[in-house]
Amino acid sequence: MFHKVAIIGGGAAAATLVSELLERRTQRPLHLDWYTGGPMAGRGVAYGTPSERHLLNVRAASMGMFVSKPGGFLEYAQALDPSVKGADFLPRRMYGDFLQSRVEDAVKNAGSFGHDVNVLPFAAESVVPSAEGVTIGYGDGETQAEAAVLAIGSLPPRPLPGVEDAAIASGRYITDPWPFLASAESHERPLRVLIIGLGLTAVDVLLELSARWPNAHFDALSRHGKLPEPHLAAASAPNDDGGELIESMRDDVNIRVWLRRLREATAGAEDWRTVIDGMRPHTQSLWHDLPQAERARFLRHARWAWERARHRMPPQVAATIANLESDGRLTRSRGRMRSVRLSEDGSLAVVHRLPGGGETTDSYDIVIQTVGLNTDTQRTDHRLVRQLVLGDLVTPDPLGLGFAALPDGHLLDGEGKPRRNLFAIGSLLRGALWESTAIPEIRKQAQSLANMLLAEKVQRVATR
Ligand SMILES: Cc1cc2nc3c(=O)[nH]c(=O)nc-3n(C[C@H](O)[C@H](O)[C@H](O)COP(=O)(O)OP(=O)(O)OC[C@H]3O[C@@H](n4cnc5c(N)ncnc54)[C@H](O)[C@@H]3O)c2cc1C
Repeated sequence: MFHKVAIIGGGAAAATLVSELLERRTQRPLHLDWYTGGPMAGRGVAYGTPSERHLLNVRAASMGMFVSKPGGFLEYAQALDPSVKGADFLPRRMYGDFLQSRVEDAVKNAGSFGHDVNVLPFAAESVVPSAEGVTIGYGDGETQAEAAVLAIGSLPPRPLPGVEDAAIASGRYITDPWPFLASAESHERPLRVLIIGLGLTAVDVLLELSARWPNAHFDALSRHGKLPEPHLAAASAPNDDGGELIESMRDDVNIRVWLRRLREATAGAEDWRTVIDGMRPHTQSLWHDLPQAERARFLRHARWAWERARHRMPPQVAATIANLESDGRLTRSRGRMRSVRLSEDGSLAVVHRLPGGGETTDSYDIVIQTVGLNTDTQRTDHRLVRQLVLGDLVTPDPLGLGFAALPDGHLLDGEGKPRRNLFAIGSLLRGALWESTAIPEIRKQAQSLANMLLAEKVQRVATR
């Protein structure tokens, strides 16, 4: 067992792991140093939004914080409002309240289990693992632990290639939509807004800004011009035939074949969603079996289609977006942004390539980039990740999907060997697991990490 553990990160993954650890009885006390990166511990990016328009994209019944209590969030929500149903898509703000209250209770009650917690509202700036333990640096301070877990979510977004520095400096090109949404004021000015990327973050931006800026027009540009698919209003059980599909995929580990099998399975199903949902328990092991070249092929050709089928919009959100389109306030187009530069009149000139060839230039007051999670640890300004990568203390995933790691969360050192005392949880394990961002996966990772960290005999994972 590790008796002194540092948890680094202030979002849902850290809150879940901290709670898992503190609610267990151990033979000897556990000491946690929890680096939360700021004062709002437990919410992170997804559940820090105060907007009631921003809904969970997973039904309430599946958003429990612990594997041992998958219905925990539903119970919490029904205690506040007995009319809530398990199939509802509730506000993310409420989920943030739930996470925060649960982890605060766990920290408060830690003493009754013999544990103690030091909550440090700072960003960890360096992590140096060695045979003796791990040294964590922040500001002018430093702490020692026997093991550390990185629960830092995804990396700060970087501007797309082709965006001029002057466009960014003007404040009209928004690389990170979340701080922008937190501070954007309501007004009635007519604005031309371009959104680059059409995933769930684009949908959140549209919901919020279309309400705050009633006279704005939104263009949305993406490679395929398609929105995420909607959930059905009623929950449906995953497909019973999932096993047959999975076996046929295991028999021929090839992305082209997999896509064909998926197309056949979805065409034969009453609703295609049941096939996609039926794959979820198997996605990580399928990914594990996929050779690097096939993974790269998936990312190039199939990722976009997978993401829009897998990460779906609640039906009421889909209806709001459809209304924006039918009212003429939202126009979607296919294409690729080539460049964004600041014009003399202060607007942004955006050149984009059209699908059939040729280019077009349009002028916008604001351009917002919403192109999905950044997990590229080789090219990032995140101070801690840079220190780990540049110091050769970890290996980046070769396809830009976080860190090279074992599926159980052990990070690999600079030579590709598992580190005994350095772990990760969440999005930066995408290279090892692919499916590694949502709560149902995170709570499983938290449970197995807690088992590993508290195991009486520390697991031997080769060297170090
Ligand atoms: C907009 C959005 C909506 C989502 N909706 C859902 C949903 O409805 N259902 C679902 O299951 N999943 C959803 N997800 C997936 C989501 O990623 C996970 O549910 C979960 O929030 C991930 O939590 P995390 O702690 O891994 O990451 P984050 O929420 O990103 O938290 C990481 C935290 O670590 C902090 N940090 C970073 N570096 C350091 C450092 N060096 N030191 C200390 N702290 C640091 C950051 O400031 C941040 O607070 C959504 C994701 C997004 C982005």
